[in-house]
Amino acid sequence: MAITATPRFRVIYHAPICPECGSPAITTEEVETGDGITETAYLCTSCGEAWPLACVTDWDTRTPPPAQPRPAPPTTWKEASDAPPQPQR
Ligand SMILES: [Zn+2]
Repeated sequence: MAITATPRFRVIYHAPICPECGSPAITTEEVETGDGITETAYLCTSCGEAWPLACVTDWDTRTPPPAQPRPAPPTTWKEASDAPPQPQR
């Protein structure tokens, strides 16, 4: 997991695993914190549990870097040759 944060900020990322059910099926969502501020939070797609993406102890007016490693899309493997290898006799 690549953490790209300015060194001056202490960003403590939480593990992208549901603390409730342990499911790695996690998505992110913008949630309201209640102060009219929206922040990105993890959202468990299995049980619906939501928790903060990260704790930031020293924050500026900048928007947080949403440097989240998205799961790579599945690569469709294509065989180099259409003909299956023939067994040699
Ligand atoms: Zn869960």
